[in-house]
Amino acid sequence: FRKEAERKKDEFISIASHELKTPLASMIGYIQMLKSRAAKSEDNFAVGILDKANKQSKKMNALINGFLDMKRVETGKIPIDREIFDMAELLIESEEESMATMSSHTVVFAPVERTMVEADRDKIGQVITNLISNSVKYSPAGSTITVACVNIDNMARVSVKDQGMGISQANQSQLFDRFYRVESEEKGNVSGFGIGLYICDEIIRRHHGKIWVESELGKGSTFHFTIPI
Ligand code: ADP
Repeated sequence: FRKEAERKKDEFISIASHELKTPLASMIGYIQMLKSRAAKSEDNFAVGILDKANKQSKKMNALINGFLDMKRVETGKIPIDREIFDMAELLIESEEESMATMSSHTVVFAPVERTMVEADRDKIGQVITNLISNSVKYSPAGSTITVACVNIDNMARVSVKDQGMGISQANQSQLFDRFYRVESEEKGNVSGFGIGLYICDEIIRRHHGKIWVESELGKGSTFHFTIPI
């Protein structure tokens, strides 16, 4: 019975995500049209509001994509398209992309070494963006996020470190589980569904790599992943 209920829930999530995608895409298109028109007529108030509407709809779009990815992960349909690229370059690109929508934190690169890998560039980029956006979500505005990329024992190792709330030892082992979210006072009402790290784990696993966290409650967290070079 439990299994059946679980399956129904999954099916509902997957159908709903699919159906939400098309109207949302049109809405984003309309918002962008209005924004460019407002910009032309120098209506700064409208530009500001439409900019916010645009950011919010992009967030919603990212959530929906998360659900669809989850489905793909579970049915083993997450294709890995390998290419050769420099991890350091991808890290810098992902940081720029993240900071375009979140400007509340300072990102420091230390150290970011040129590291050539053969992997799925988009998917690894998705993992990095996810780790950076979690750091932003779970650490105070104005604090620093440190990203690093080094080459150790024939593995490329990427780390994202924040000065946030941290994660207790007891919660660390479940972080990468589907729908798992830490319940805590200081976390407040940060939104999310607890599938980001689950998908990251799956992507890294498909690359024969590892993802893990080092953290202490109240003392920030560092997420690391490695993939073979
Ligand atoms: P979401 O952020 O949508 O809840 P994730 O799968 O990305 O889902 O993360 C799962 C949980 O792990 C989060 O709800 C949060 O409790 C915890 N977490 C993730 N990243 C951090 C971080 N950098 N600092 C503290 N807690 C974190």
